[in-house]
Amino acid sequence: MVKSRQSIHRSDLADGSAKPIPKNSDPCSGDPLFLEPFWMHHASSSAVLISGWHRMSYNFPGPTAISEVLDSHIRRLHHVAKNALTDGKYIVFGGGSTQLLNAAVYALSANLSSPASVVAAVPSYPLYKTQTDFFQNKNYAFKGDASLMSNASYANTNVIEFVTSPNNPDGNLKEAVCKGPCVRAIYDHAYFWPHFTAIPSPADEDVMIFTMSKLTGHAGSRFGWALVKDEEVYNTMITYITVAEMGISRETQLRALQLMKAILRGDGKEIFNYAFEKMSARWGKLSRIFSKSKRFSIQEIPPLYCNFFDKVRGPSPGYAWVKCEREEDVDCTRVLREANIIGRAGSLFSVADLYVRLSLLKGDDDFNLLLNRLEKLVDEEGGPE
Ligand code: PMP
Repeated sequence: MVKSRQSIHRSDLADGSAKPIPKNSDPCSGDPLFLEPFWMHHASSSAVLISGWHRMSYNFPGPTAISEVLDSHIRRLHHVAKNALTDGKYIVFGGGSTQLLNAAVYALSANLSSPASVVAAVPSYPLYKTQTDFFQNKNYAFKGDASLMSNASYANTNVIEFVTSPNNPDGNLKEAVCKGPCVRAIYDHAYFWPHFTAIPSPADEDVMIFTMSKLTGHAGSRFGWALVKDEEVYNTMITYITVAEMGISRETQLRALQLMKAILRGDGKEIFNYAFEKMSARWGKLSRIFSKSKRFSIQEIPPLYCNFFDKVRGPSPGYAWVKCEREEDVDCTRVLREANIIGRAGSLFSVADLYVRLSLLKGDDDFNLLLNRLEKLVDEEGGPE
């Protein structure tokens, strides 16, 4: 019998859950449907129509008419959001940011004298490990929690650290833990938009990865981009995308461009105001419920000065990182599951199952159901009436 070397479930690829989840019924995923009403409101300016005969050729990476316009729109978008400096940086397109994560590991480990240890501080987004193990290569290996690497061990070891800022699952802004001449960081800025976090200052790292999935909510279009300072790293990432994909779909690029054009109409701030209002209102409602509980707590995210709003603003994270406070509730996912609330277990993010991640990114109906069920669970803490 032929046995596959590794079996990876759909949910591993999406967000790291261990069990397969039936199609279209994944209430705990990071699918940002909260933006659907925004796009319904902008239905005509965001629509794309492509004739059958139009631009049928291959679209290899490199300057093409569409990629150049898209490149300039991405730079304008960062300028409006004030979340990243783009001057002097190259832009690599990817099939979602997922493809760029491994392209970056590949490029940063390409010319090293010894293999790189790939690490991420926990709780960490599971796909870094899943992908690094899956695309195994003699140049790198996943070595787990960045916080466990002592100063001594990374003084002479090549390290590639994934820094997720703000973090999935807990929404906190992060800095690289490992520092030193042999350390290279990949900043995963999927959520570094005013929707989800204060922007203390524009990011200016060597390798930064962004995704349309969390900016516009169009996760199914599979478009992400990397801002890269170093020309050699950029060229190696382009080689990776060329070998893996022969370039990113024109239709995807066209859709991304149309969405960015729609966002950039007027002063370009509407989507950020809308998304922040919505996410911060959700966080407010959720926090009020958890503030009544002794059994559960959620993460604290301090108010911070935001470069985009030019004022101190409160939290609006994409996920609630729930902790079960009672010793007997070792499997917090199960505790919530019994109340019909589906979350992702802490162990998927390499920490104890006292923690569970709840998605706050879904549509209004899902979010309201979540609130109702949480409220009922917290109200019942004192025991049945
Ligand atoms: N990075 C982080 C931290 C994420 O949460 C996600 C999606 N959940 C991704 C990357 C991948 O996003 P995509 O491939 O859709 O761009």
